[in-house]
Parts: sequence; C-alpha cells; structure tokens
Amino acid sequence: MEKKDIDWGNLGFGYQKTDFRFVSEYKGGKWDDGVLTEDDKIVMSECAGVLQYAQTVFEGLKAYTTEQGDIVTFRPDLNASRLEDSAKRLEMPPFPQDRFVEAVKKTVAANAAYVPPYGSGATLYVRPFMFGKNPVIGVKPADEYEFRIFCTPVGPYFKGGVKPLTICVSDFDRAAPHGTGHIKAGLNYAMSLHAIQTAHRNGFDENMYLDPATRTKVEETGGANFLFVTKDNTIVTPKSDSILPSITRRSLMYVAEHYLGLKVEQREVAFTELKDFAECGLCGTAAVISPVGKVVNHGEEVCFPSGMTEMGPVTKKLYDTLTGIQMGRLEAPEGWICKIQ
Ligand SMILES: *Cc1c(COP(=O)(O)O)cnc(C)c1O
Repeated sequence: MEKKDIDWGNLGFGYQKTDFRFVSEYKGGKWDDGVLTEDDKIVMSECAGVLQYAQTVFEGLKAYTTEQGDIVTFRPDLNASRLEDSAKRLEMPPFPQDRFVEAVKKTVAANAAYVPPYGSGATLYVRPFMFGKNPVIGVKPADEYEFRIFCTPVGPYFKGGVKPLTICVSDFDRAAPHGTGHIKAGLNYAMSLHAIQTAHRNGFDENMYLDPATRTKVEETGGANFLFVTKDNTIVTPKSDSILPSITRRSLMYVAEHYLGLKVEQREVAFTELKDFAECGLCGTAAVISPVGKVVNHGEEVCFPSGMTEMGPVTKKLYDTLTGIQMGRLEAPEGWICKIQ
C-alpha cells in the first residue's frame, strides 16, 4: 500500500481529511450495520439534540506503525467501555463494545495510507464520537443518534524537544461534584474554553483544576490526568469521582508497578502536598506524558526539582517504557496491542 505524500515529521495537531470514515445510525431502537463512507459531511436538522442540548460524547486514540511494521492501536477495548459509560450518563444508547473495536479497525485499515511510518513520531489520531441527531426542542434525550469515527494524521507531540510546562491553578471549575467530570463529553470541553484561553492570556500552558467542593485537592487539567513522583520514587495519582479515567494514566501506573517495580498509589492529593513531590507529569493519549516544571497559584510558585529543561528521570523512564511497549520495542501485557494489519 502506497503512503500519502505527507511530511510526517512536520505535521501539527490539526484536522486533515482522510479518505474514509465509519458511520452507523441509531433509529427505531437499534444501531444499523454501519458503513465506511467517503462523505465527510453531516446533514441534520437545525434542531438536532446535539446542537440544542449538547448531547454528544467522544473518544480519542491513536493508530501507528510498530518497529515490526504492523499497524496497531493501543487498548481500544478501554475506549469502547469508556464510551459506553459516557453515553449512559447522557442517556444515549451505547454503541456495542465489540462493534466499536471492529469499527476502529475497519476505519484505520481503510485509511492505512495515512498511518505514519515507524520512527516518524507522527501517528493517526482516531476520533470516535456519537451525538443526538433528530429534532429535540423540549428538553429530553434524542430518539435517533449517529456514531461516527474519523481519523486525522497528527505530528510528533514533542516536536523540537521536550519542554516542561508551566501551569496555573484555575479560578474556574471543570466539573461539579456528582456531575459529568468522569465522562468524555464535549460539554466538559465547552466550559473549559474560557478557562484555558484565560490561562494562555496570562502566559500559562495549562490549568490545574482543584476539586470543586473544597478547592483543596488536585484533580486534573482540561484534558490530561496528573501523575506525581515522590522523592522516594513512589508514583501518586489523584483519586476523585470527577476525574476522567485516562487510559494512558492507568497504563502508566501498571507499567510503573509491573515493569519498573515502583510503588504506586491512587489517593486524594492535597494541593499543599505539591511542594513535596520530585516530578509531575500530565498523562493523555496526545503526549503520553508531558512533564510539568512549575505550578503557579496566584503568584505563589511550586517548582519541581526536575526543573524547566527536561523530563524528570522517573517520568522519562515511564515515558520510554510505555512508548517502547506501544511501538513494539518491549513486550506488551496481554491484550494491550491491537493489530490491524
Ligand atoms: C481524554 C482525557 C484524558 C486523557 O485520557 P486518555 O485516555 O489517556 O487519552 C484526561 N482528561 C480528560 C478530561 C480527558 O478528556
């Protein structure tokens, strides 16, 4: 198969249309078989549930080429189950999990020409999502839905080298207690836009959100979970019902314990504890881990000993091990790598 003529190493993170997407419609109480289509446009009523009351949930994962030359994705079964959890919370009919994984494979295989070669650092970002499609004006769930998966090639995350982030404690909350912080819904992102633009205007890379009830405990950023390293090399990640369960973070915790022999803890993390940690990172599909160098809380700075020029040593080990597993350089735990072709 001939690859597209793309300068893989210089791609950014933007949408670029590929040849095929998967579409399945939910009508009359069931999902149809779904098809691959070249049509990237969606035609629907101006009163569609998604447009009026934001009834939409999504996932994000990557397809890439391993050292062995296989096209694979990483733990798509976890994206399938998380999308089901998200859908149920917004009263949407779940797309069957086994069919989700099949549809991801089909969509990636159809767009194989866009999967970047091994070593380029680029990947094919895969975006499954679903939304309420029929007209809804009185507030209630839609009766008809669309599930769709498109792909877009994206560049290496750390283009031009790793640069630790400076983040600020946000004055806004991203989630309410007992709200929707734990699901992957567009509505959580809509309300984070003002907060992130404000952070950027103030010269920060990202926001740290605290728990909305007491504003004393660390939650997450707008799109990534926190992972901390203590001075005696224990890996700590915040526990809260309003954090999105990152697949990358769960995989890193497993890798820390089973590959690197480190102690791991998932527990509440008080903001006042930050100054005692040696390293801090943000975990998500996009970067795997981005190191954080500094957290600023209204002028008061917490600087991690790992500094502002490179990843801390434990963060780096976690990063190298997980990306080694993903790229086929290290043996993966059973079921983590899903081969497409
Ligand atoms: C998607 C997302 C993450 C990262 O999850 P991964 O499964 O690791 O990509 C973290 N926080 C939020 C709020 C997210 O939406």
